[in-house]
Amino acid sequence: MLKPIDSTIESLIFLMMLTGSVGWFGWLIYRRIAVITAGQPQNRFDRIGHRIAAFFSLGLGQQKIRDRRFRSAGFMHAFIFWGFLVVSINTIQMIAQGFNSDFVLPGLRTGQMSGRMYFWLKDIFEILVLLSVFYALVRRLIIRPKRLTLSGSANLILLMIGILMITDLFLSGLEVALGLARVHTVIGTLFAGLFSKTGTTFIAWFFQINWWLHLTTLLFFLPYLPLSKHFHIVTSLPAVFFKRLDSGALRFLDVESGEHFGAARIEQLGWKDLLDIYSCTECGRCQTVCPAYESGKLLSPKEFNIALRHHLKKYSGQIIAEKRPKGSADSTKIIGRENMVGASIADETLWACNMCRACEEACPLSIEFIDRIAEMRRHLVLEESRFPESAVLAFRNLENQGNPWGAADREKWTEGLTIPRVEQKAGSAGFEYLFWIGCAGAFDEHGQKTSRAMVKLLNAAGVSYAILGNAETCTGDAARRLGNEYLFQTLARQNIETFGKYGVKKIITQCAHCYNTLKNEYPQLGGNYQVVSHVEFIAALLAKKRLEITRPLEGKLTFHDACYLGRHNGIYTAPRQIIKALHVDFREAPRHGENAFCCGAGGGRMWLEESPDQRVNSVRVQELAGLKPQIIATACPFCTTMLSDGLKDKNFNIPCTDLAVLVADHLE
Ligand code: SF4
Ligand code: SF4
Repeated sequence: MLKPIDSTIESLIFLMMLTGSVGWFGWLIYRRIAVITAGQPQNRFDRIGHRIAAFFSLGLGQQKIRDRRFRSAGFMHAFIFWGFLVVSINTIQMIAQGFNSDFVLPGLRTGQMSGRMYFWLKDIFEILVLLSVFYALVRRLIIRPKRLTLSGSANLILLMIGILMITDLFLSGLEVALGLARVHTVIGTLFAGLFSKTGTTFIAWFFQINWWLHLTTLLFFLPYLPLSKHFHIVTSLPAVFFKRLDSGALRFLDVESGEHFGAARIEQLGWKDLLDIYSCTECGRCQTVCPAYESGKLLSPKEFNIALRHHLKKYSGQIIAEKRPKGSADSTKIIGRENMVGASIADETLWACNMCRACEEACPLSIEFIDRIAEMRRHLVLEESRFPESAVLAFRNLENQGNPWGAADREKWTEGLTIPRVEQKAGSAGFEYLFWIGCAGAFDEHGQKTSRAMVKLLNAAGVSYAILGNAETCTGDAARRLGNEYLFQTLARQNIETFGKYGVKKIITQCAHCYNTLKNEYPQLGGNYQVVSHVEFIAALLAKKRLEITRPLEGKLTFHDACYLGRHNGIYTAPRQIIKALHVDFREAPRHGENAFCCGAGGGRMWLEESPDQRVNSVRVQELAGLKPQIIATACPFCTTMLSDGLKDKNFNIPCTDLAVLVADHLE
């Protein structure tokens, strides 16, 4: 082994550099942790087995990074990440060799198989990282994809990574050239060829240059990480380990005794939210899939994160000072500071979100947006009474009539049908399932059609069921997503009381939003039921031959996945089983399944004004119509209405129908 440091002065310089770098890095990490832990408590230590699995698959395995939609950039990033992990073992050894040139890590000693394997692997990964860095620079400097935030800082980091790889490869080659290498790898031998004719004096000098350049770059790189967006190199593994494991439900808010409602100041977000803000890589995948962004609204999830990171950066000193005991020197630094809502995040940005979860699904680190946005909406509604004009009417209708339409009779759609009511059944044979109609199923023209079709299917299959009729009130989904948690809880408690009165245990619903709220959010208020979506129920009846489709559906059909069945609840198979049973010519939408594009109704936006040139449903219907289908099928009344409106606006003569209606029309 060549001696990288051969004088006391050099040893001292190296020691000072190392201490300075590690000390600075440690100080910055301490401050970041102090800021993150200033956030509100969140339990992310549950289901440890799932968390470990996510750590290995999403973290170490880089599974989401390699998503097929972003494959080339994904592999580029994954190679850099894996390369870093592999090379860091050698880095530890190199630092130790600065003090003792004979130091070798256990397992890497001469003659050990593990050492031979490691150095082969290291050289291969260094080449892969170098190629990846080159590709990354070409993307950033020449291709310049719109989704990326192009910054000098990112280029500097890439340059440093490149220097680290090249100098390490040179060091391998120089050791081989002098016959001092413990392992002769192909790449080391190739590089040795470059130096073999230069003489030992040059090699020793060049070795010193490379060693110092490598270590100096590394020691600058380390404290630079927390100061840049590349802090994700440190936070990405914790971010995926602590990721949200459940889906669908917004966070519970104690409206009776809570000290504040929602989040106005950044530390009123959860600690994991703050970790997410630091973890964002600014890759822009979330922005690419966001319906609000694609339809031209102010919201970009990536920019939302960046704005919050700037806000955190600006106020981190004060946040830390506020954590100190009153009376300590730093606590006097506290001065009034701006709320994130209003100052760093515009109201319009918050109201643009469809809460469709496409961003969270696409994000390689599973960074969470919806709860943060919901918390900020809660602050606006409950503490400042600041919300779009169009939400006023929806809130008023929900308060006065128990539905956002403001309509009066929930049973009107049942005219001419014989449908069992809970009060009739409760005293006699009872009922197994409550058929939950939902506001759209009761009042909206498309929803009513689906309700009638469901009645036909339930009767045909001999299901024991009953409806609540006028005893039903809105689940509160729209109120909750529009930030009116108080109204949501009022409506939800009313329904839970009604369910208790009639002994409801199992619920079928044709509305994706009702499904999500009844299943995932009512348990927060003590309402626990077995909730099943109509598509799951119909698919099961078809599989058991309790329903049989005897006439195939003519024409070409495409299917629109509802966000609140799909991404929020993982229901993708049941609708496709129904489509298969219909024997129809089926074409998947370009964006389907987990990658499906929202219809524009989610997040309470069904009830907000949308400028004609920024309509999400226009974007979606143009995509679906591009397949030239004869039918667009859905599994949610809100999707059916939004897409039908969009098709009409864009002059597409294509019917949009719920799957239940198609099945009911094609029964024996
Ligand atoms: S939830 Fe949907 S609309 Fe909201 S930021 Fe994410 S992708 Fe955009
Ligand atoms: S939130 Fe996730 S997807 Fe969006 S820019 Fe950040 S890392 Fe990329």
